[in-house]
Amino acid sequence: MNLLSDLEDFVHDHRPHGTLTGDATEPAWNGYLLTVACPCGVVFARWVTLEEADALSLRGAFDWRLTCPVAAWAA
Ligand SMILES: [Zn+2]
Repeated sequence: MNLLSDLEDFVHDHRPHGTLTGDATEPAWNGYLLTVACPCGVVFARWVTLEEADALSLRGAFDWRLTCPVAAWAA
């Protein structure tokens, strides 16, 4: 299971529907919940470990909207 490829698939499938909205909870001991909502009603939700977050440079929920690759892809 690869978070980034799953995200890329989601963005590829749903970007034509409109603006994708990414969000993430504040980091907990086991990571945090990453969500990307499409206007069509489908929501991508995945628990992201801190290791995965590091790999994607997503660590830090407060900065996530600025650094999330989804935000760049959806722009
Ligand atoms: Zn969609």
